[in-house]
Amino acid sequence: MVLRERISEHTYVFRSNMYAKVNAGLITTPEGCILIDTLPYPEETEEIVHFVRRRLRSNVKYIILTHSHADHVYGAYLFPEADVIGHLYSRKLLLTQTRPALTKARQTNPALADVRLRLPAILMEKEAAVRLGGATLIMRHAPGHAPDVISVYYREEKVLFASDAMMSIPYFVYGDINDLRRTLRELMEASPLEDLVQGHGDVLLRGEVKTVIETHLAYLDKLEAHVDDVIARRLGKEALLSLDVGECGISHIALEGLAPRLHRENLIALYTRKIKRLKQSQTKQKQAA
Ligand SMILES: [Zn+2]
Repeated sequence: MVLRERISEHTYVFRSNMYAKVNAGLITTPEGCILIDTLPYPEETEEIVHFVRRRLRSNVKYIILTHSHADHVYGAYLFPEADVIGHLYSRKLLLTQTRPALTKARQTNPALADVRLRLPAILMEKEAAVRLGGATLIMRHAPGHAPDVISVYYREEKVLFASDAMMSIPYFVYGDINDLRRTLRELMEASPLEDLVQGHGDVLLRGEVKTVIETHLAYLDKLEAHVDDVIARRLGKEALLSLDVGECGISHIALEGLAPRLHRENLIALYTRKIKRLKQSQTKQKQAA
């Protein structure tokens, strides 16, 4: 069963019980609904379909896909009536990465047998807005977790959907640590704000947002300082992985116990990128000499 939470008059959040607490958002209006992301497994997204049709006696006019990752987009095909909105890069990544990954996943996971990817037909780059039935949703490019992430701000009810720029542990393996820092600082400025819906995990209330974002920025700083130290002292992989996620202010049990694994992947990704850059600049220096 999906967890359904009504966080303001016209805003519902649906949280996956089957994979990493993914959140989908639903804005209801007299002219139809706007869905922000879908859930990882069709049987969970079906619960949203059921709720919209049977309980609200409505339909979904638009789906905003906040990025191209499988856990957020697999359910879009269950709303054939809706127009799909997304970032320019998302369309490209859906075709080049999500689609081949889905073909592979289908072979081992029968629950995904019927999933068909839907590509966004309405594309945005930096900023755009949707208006429907008195609701204004402002979408902004929010890269860092991945290059194509967008955040969505529901102006009338002061709700910010931060997508995976905000999850219980910052994760930039598919994106870039500096982009994520910039995005987090921008999210902190969102105002006025009542609730922040993370891509995964609990909804944050107004009073918690600043502290949580500061914790995430501190996590990124500590992680990067550690990676720099390991490189400067020419230490190995064991030293790199010796930094515990708990020492960086993030709970081990965050995201159903996934946090230590995501933390290790962050460490390895940052280390690998920095070593690559170092080697490139050394080669350039040699060529110049
Ligand atoms: Zn995700």
